[in-house]
Amino acid sequence: MSDFKLEAIKCKNCGSGLVVEINDYVTYCGSCGSGFEIVNGELQPIEINFSSIAIPGNAEVVYKPFWLMKTKVDILERTAAGGFMKNLFGGASDSSGEITFYIPAFYCTLDSLKKIASSFTQKNPVASPQKFNAKLTGFAYGKDDAKKLAEFLLISFEAEKSDTMKTFRYNIDFNSCEILGIPYYKEKDGRLKDAVLGIEL
Ligand SMILES: [Zn+2]
Repeated sequence: MSDFKLEAIKCKNCGSGLVVEINDYVTYCGSCGSGFEIVNGELQPIEINFSSIAIPGNAEVVYKPFWLMKTKVDILERTAAGGFMKNLFGGASDSSGEITFYIPAFYCTLDSLKKIASSFTQKNPVASPQKFNAKLTGFAYGKDDAKKLAEFLLISFEAEKSDTMKTFRYNIDFNSCEILGIPYYKEKDGRLKDAVLGIEL
């Protein structure tokens, strides 16, 4: 990897040393629990929390970063029936509601990304994330990438429920963008499987 470079910076909150890869978008201070988004070399505070383990196991646990994006979605125009969206919105309306998107911030294949983001977003399995003293690195996608991926996911949810999707106009407001660390088991063969829904990478 020719562009691999380390930079020593200090946590703006507690002064602990943070090790950041030059291409990372976000860094987490395991000493005090502060998160920072790196924007043009500057540290801007961002909320970082973790999911606890839901599926017990014995393998080593590593945490992978997700963007957790709370949105308000309004469907302005559609040709497909809206039943699926109604479930996503929590059952009140099929044209307007809140969706919490879980978008992997770490590198994975597009197929994995779609599968993981789709399952986590539909199940919304981490209601109360919390602070852990854990290591969280490998941020391959920034906030703007994640917003595009959330829209891609929204469109794919709609498209998959209809063979005849011709019109789909929507508005999406991103109310908050946080980071969520999801625990993954490192299995013996080197594969990773999350400890929340049990989806293998
Ligand atoms: Zn700190």
